[in-house]
Amino acid sequence: MPASVVPVLMYHHVSPTPGLITVSPAHFAAQMCWLKRHGYTTLTLDALAGFLAGEPVPAKSVVISFDDGYLDNWVYAHPVLEQYGLHAVLFLITRWLGEGPLRPHAGQGNTPLPACLSHHAGKTAIDAGQTDLVMMRWSEVLAARDAGTFEFHSHTHTHNRWDKIYPGDADNKSKALAHDLASSRNLLTERLGEVSSHLCWPQGYYDDDYIRVAEAAGFRHLYTTEPGVVGADSMASRLPRIVVKDRGLGWFAPRMWAYRQPALARWYLGRKSR
Ligand SMILES: [Zn+2]
Repeated sequence: MPASVVPVLMYHHVSPTPGLITVSPAHFAAQMCWLKRHGYTTLTLDALAGFLAGEPVPAKSVVISFDDGYLDNWVYAHPVLEQYGLHAVLFLITRWLGEGPLRPHAGQGNTPLPACLSHHAGKTAIDAGQTDLVMMRWSEVLAARDAGTFEFHSHTHTHNRWDKIYPGDADNKSKALAHDLASSRNLLTERLGEVSSHLCWPQGYYDDDYIRVAEAAGFRHLYTTEPGVVGADSMASRLPRIVVKDRGLGWFAPRMWAYRQPALARWYLGRKSR
């Protein structure tokens, strides 16, 4: 039986430094081990696009998505994905990626690991121009891609909320977003040799102008933060995702089971999460 729905899981940080949108390395490893042990297929976004176009995917299919491109994704998530042979997708804020050699990641013996800041401290560092302390480097992006642990897509170039910068000014908002998306596409093409049709909205915000501009720029699959599972009849321009909490298998396993069944998934995602 092929899948009738596919959950797109959403992560930000995987780090021992606690924070609002952070999953601990232990919980992340347990969640990934569970997916592996239960025979899940971690889909590429190409495969998800195929599913939306009517191609079958295995019954136990999931998309593991990350937003922004934090250093801790390389240090703590990459080695776990590699260990279990799982594949994730990462939506990059392309302007924030730095230059320089690979930094150590977990699982490399006693090599000291780079410090990973909390979400809050990371914001402060980025505002102070210390983006390299917080974000991945292009070398790490390429290494993760070559290892098959991550594939990379756009999360815009600047992560700016143009609707807030130009309130009530649809024309300038749309122009700024178009420029932002073009910059992101150009840089991804320059660095990775390709750019995809998949885009994730900063802070989950979008409106009709945003969708129009993104589609004109060449994006067809737009990822939101609205909770839900993706069905074959989902609109490509409004794909839902599911926040994964910093919780163990007692939280994760029943949800993964429910997300395979449309009615149960709605029940789980519709009620207030604990
Ligand atoms: Zn983001």
